[in-house]
Amino acid sequence: HAHFTGVSPQRVRELTSIETERYALANPSSRAMAAESAQHLMFGVPLHWMNDWGTPFPLQVAQARGATLVDVDGHERVDFCLGDTGAMFGHSPAAVTAALRAQAGLGLTAMLGGPDAGTVALLLTERFGMTRWQFAMTASDANRFVLRWIRAATGRPVLLVFNGCYHGTVDDVFVDLVDGRPTQRDSLLGQVQDLTRTTRVVEFNDLSALEAALAPGDVACVLAEPVMTNIGMVLPEPGFWERAIEIIHRHGSQLVMDETHTISSGPGGYARAHGLAADAVVLGKPLGGGMPCAAYGFTEALAAQAEAAKRAAPPGHSGVGTTLTANLLAMAAMRATLTHLMTPAVFDEMHRRCTRLADGLRRVIARHRLPWCVTQVGARCEFQFCASPPRNGTEATAAMDAALEHAIHLALLNRGVVITPFHNMMLVCPDTTDDDVESLLIAFDGVLGQLTD
Ligand code: PMP
Repeated sequence: HAHFTGVSPQRVRELTSIETERYALANPSSRAMAAESAQHLMFGVPLHWMNDWGTPFPLQVAQARGATLVDVDGHERVDFCLGDTGAMFGHSPAAVTAALRAQAGLGLTAMLGGPDAGTVALLLTERFGMTRWQFAMTASDANRFVLRWIRAATGRPVLLVFNGCYHGTVDDVFVDLVDGRPTQRDSLLGQVQDLTRTTRVVEFNDLSALEAALAPGDVACVLAEPVMTNIGMVLPEPGFWERAIEIIHRHGSQLVMDETHTISSGPGGYARAHGLAADAVVLGKPLGGGMPCAAYGFTEALAAQAEAAKRAAPPGHSGVGTTLTANLLAMAAMRATLTHLMTPAVFDEMHRRCTRLADGLRRVIARHRLPWCVTQVGARCEFQFCASPPRNGTEATAAMDAALEHAIHLALLNRGVVITPFHNMMLVCPDTTDDDVESLLIAFDGVLGQLTD
């Protein structure tokens, strides 16, 4: 591996082999349960990417509450993965489970709205500023639908994204810059269209590349996370978004902020917290407190254009929406989440604790003299194997080291701490305590000691 992480590959291999054996010995019930269900599942798991944890066999969950995950062998682990953000407000938050219990006997889905829909939209408007809302069941779908609406509304075909982004399983987005050339990601399965015809990709924080890509006047929208969070973390440089928004609008394009992860910044997401005015916002994952829910909001102007496009189209399938979208249970979950969890008081606590975590990680990394950095976005933070924070997707990719990541994740798991299997992301939920943070820091210190001694 060309990139300098400060850790020898030999050490990484040794730790991985010790931890692999340790995991196998400590989790006999997970092993048995995984083997049994593997007889009936593709790849042995209900979703194939659950194998990305890289454990010798998949860990099986008995129950999850607050910040605690209990596996079927009875180990209690502190969970900083939190379902990769789906459980950012804690596992089974009381307000949401109460709302679900109440709604459960009153109808789950009817393909009709009820008393929660208007309230949820109003609460979303108060938080995010957008005035017109629609729903979906996943952030992937919300992004797909937004893209369709905006292409229809503007009559423009092209999508512009930042290199190294992820916005869910939205086909159009899987185009990377490889040696400066737009290249369809070859991991994408079953794609028969040439996505580079209608997807343009530039580096994050590169205003002149953005301007050049918008110049032809055929870009419907820029779809972006306000902070890149899926390739490690990449922060916008000061003033980047203010200038980018001016450029995007000057070229008649729309800006869609995907706040699915950056909702960690506060109750109105990163854009609201930083006074950035987008044309659309996408939310998913934790919006229903762990229930499958997503929403997207438009400005009044964009909503009017989208409504006009639908009215102008012949009657029939729009390609937007699914049968269970905005079902009664989902609306109840979102109402409870917005009312009780997506509040300034809840976020203040999470942010305080995540700052403690990020500061602690920096101290541990410094103690072991590793050239790594830590970036925090509200309740979310990330350590990366580079001395200074990357400025774009290419730099962030260069700082990744799959073998090192895997060794650290597995060693932490064996020490009672769960972090996200993809890159090095950690989330703090309202139930995460200072002691939980301390547990992670102690485990992290131990693991780095083994890697560097
Ligand atoms: N947008 C962003 C920014 C994401 O990080 C993700 C998932 N990691 C998605 C959208 C898609 O979410 P889902 O898988 O729940 O559809």
